[in-house]
Amino acid sequence: MNIGIAGAGLCGRLLAWQLLRAGHRVTLFERDGSGAQSAGFIAAAMLAPFSEAVAGSADILTPGLQALQDWPAWLAQLARDSGCAVPFGCEGSVVVAHGSDRAELHWFYRRLQGMAAPAAGDCRLLDGPALRQLEPGLGAFTQGLWLPGEGWLDNRALYQALDGAIVALGGQWRQGHTVSAVTPAGLVTDGATLPFERVLDCRGFGARDQLANFRGVRGEVLRVYTPEVQLRRPVRLMHPRYQLYVVPRPAGIYVIGATEIESESLAPVTVRSCLELLSALYTVHPGFAEAQVLEARAHCRPAFADHLPHIIQRGALLQVNGLYRHGYLLAPAVVNSVLSLLAGGEVLAPVQHEVADGPNLTCQRPPARPRGIKP
Ligand SMILES: Cc1cc2nc3c(=O)[nH]c(=O)nc-3n(C[C@H](O)[C@H](O)[C@H](O)COP(=O)(O)OP(=O)(O)OC[C@H]3O[C@@H](n4cnc5c(N)ncnc54)[C@H](O)[C@@H]3O)c2cc1C
Repeated sequence: MNIGIAGAGLCGRLLAWQLLRAGHRVTLFERDGSGAQSAGFIAAAMLAPFSEAVAGSADILTPGLQALQDWPAWLAQLARDSGCAVPFGCEGSVVVAHGSDRAELHWFYRRLQGMAAPAAGDCRLLDGPALRQLEPGLGAFTQGLWLPGEGWLDNRALYQALDGAIVALGGQWRQGHTVSAVTPAGLVTDGATLPFERVLDCRGFGARDQLANFRGVRGEVLRVYTPEVQLRRPVRLMHPRYQLYVVPRPAGIYVIGATEIESESLAPVTVRSCLELLSALYTVHPGFAEAQVLEARAHCRPAFADHLPHIIQRGALLQVNGLYRHGYLLAPAVVNSVLSLLAGGEVLAPVQHEVADGPNLTCQRPPARPRGIKP
């Protein structure tokens, strides 16, 4: 099939790669040259099914655990297709809290124990010595919760590898092309309608005006560099008002995140968010005091009201969106659902499949306007 994809962020790139592998012809349209303005590029790219199920819906636990199996196989295939290895870790993650916030840690643990998945039973509380044996850098804490198997991947290396694989497999890139409309017959860019047999709309937050019950949820992240701190695993700090996570990358880089604010503003990171994130970071390990702040970025997580991914089917058009804060975690379920639908099959849980009548894509909502950031 001849397939046009609007948006080359996380979802668009992964789908292009997998569809090319399945023998389809693919053209990928991206408004920004490299995808550096996508949510997937700034994300922490944690693969954290336990933590995300506790923070959100238990529906994502089983598919999230499945993703921990799927990603290594994907990355091995991607290395063969692109010649690029993507750094990936799956040595579990650790949740910690300072003494006065210990109740938050225990609440987290109780929520986890209440989940039906047998794997949740492997998560366990560690005392101070056991915690330090696992992560020597966490000497500031006397207790921690160990979540085995949780992981992370280097999203920027992933983007680069996907670029290489898409080119190697014969995909057509149309970088710097804004898609102004998608229809079952094709997509509109630079004033022309380009016909395709199938159209996939993967514009994330950029598709907000064509989707009902859809919103962006602002998130801010920092990247810091320090050779003073050695953490092998993602660390999540529980706090009554905000949670912090620290996710390692190769060569002394850490991604620090993330705020979650009911705002669709794409404005730069605020002083308040920087202060909160960096103050909390400093309490995880004093060695972060001298860390260099390399980057501060904000984006909007694309979300439907139920916070689950949706595929809305309008004839030959599939609108694939709503990956919210689980884009990396649920990517295998979403991508495999699209492949399955194109082959006449069903979607995989927790992906929601809607079949819409008619080609009318405009939804009744006011045009996008910047809104203040709520505290
Ligand atoms: C701060 C933050 C932290 C996150 N951390 C994690 C995490 O740790 N783990 C996890 O699993 N998920 C995380 N996520 C979520 C994840 O990043 C998203 O769910 C995922 O990126 C959504 O993928 P997408 O392809 O739908 O959208 P995006 O990745 O945003 O890609 C959309 C693409 O479409 C392009 N586009 C938009 N409009 C147009 C147009 N009109 N024409 C052409 N191109 C267009 C954009 O430029 C972009 O490249 C995080 C998100 C944020 C914001």
